Amino acid sequence: MFWDNHMHSNFSGDSDATPIDMINSAKEKGLRGITFTDHLDLDYPAEYGFFDLDLEKYYPTHHQLAQKHSTENFTILTGIEVGLQPGIFDATANIVNKYPFDFVIGSTHLIDKLDPYFESSWENKSPSDFLKRYYECVLENITVFSDFDTLAHLDYAFRYAKDSSIKNNSYAPYKDIVDEILSHLVKKDKALEINTSGLRKGMTYPNPHKDIVKRYFQLGGRLITIGADAHKPEDIAADFDYLPDFLKDCGFNEFAVYKNRKPTLYPLG
Ligand SMILES: [Zn+2]
Ligand SMILES: [Zn+2]
Repeated sequence: MFWDNHMHSNFSGDSDATPIDMINSAKEKGLRGITFTDHLDLDYPAEYGFFDLDLEKYYPTHHQLAQKHSTENFTILTGIEVGLQPGIFDATANIVNKYPFDFVIGSTHLIDKLDPYFESSWENKSPSDFLKRYYECVLENITVFSDFDTLAHLDYAFRYAKDSSIKNNSYAPYKDIVDEILSHLVKKDKALEINTSGLRKGMTYPNPHKDIVKRYFQLGGRLITIGADAHKPEDIAADFDYLPDFLKDCGFNEFAVYKNRKPTLYPLG
């Protein structure tokens, strides 16, 4: 009985899904619960499109839906996915603390103002240098900003690398910086997210790579959160069948669900 603790609705600029369609799909799939984590990416470059969140409506709407549609066997929680970059840390922390969110996902979507999702961001760059820079940005962001519970899709930028040998090798060539990121998470008691949307984006593993998940465990990390990062109902809990063996191979027997910003551990089954 899984939870999916990373999903979007039409409060996010890149999703058209109504919250109720997401809820109904999660119930049909037999999940134990879900957390809405719509995007808040302050100061996201305007040329990529609109990524602001209607905060006045966001928390009250999801909270009301949660009260109305949660049952004894199905819990709906309200979280947020905050996109991190220099210059927005204080404003983001203020928002995160203004509302009683259950769960805060910290994400890095930008490399020095460039989103690797767009092909133009890779022009005239060495892919491996650009990807190393991605990890440096992640480390800089989480060193300054600590108001999050889990670190999302740690090797996110690799999804968009063209060369599959680079795309599917996100640990060994960058070991030093990745170890620094993971050690920081362990020291600060932060979770590492397993985001299965990597598998829908042509990767041979979820984000992050199995070597990174194993390393987090070796370094003492015990908090894993899971999410499919669905932006439409059919993607909720996508590829979750993959997770029990994957996580057990990495050393984990449990995953965490955050409520009121505190983790509860559930068996992987
Ligand atoms: Zn994200
Ligand atoms: Zn997301």
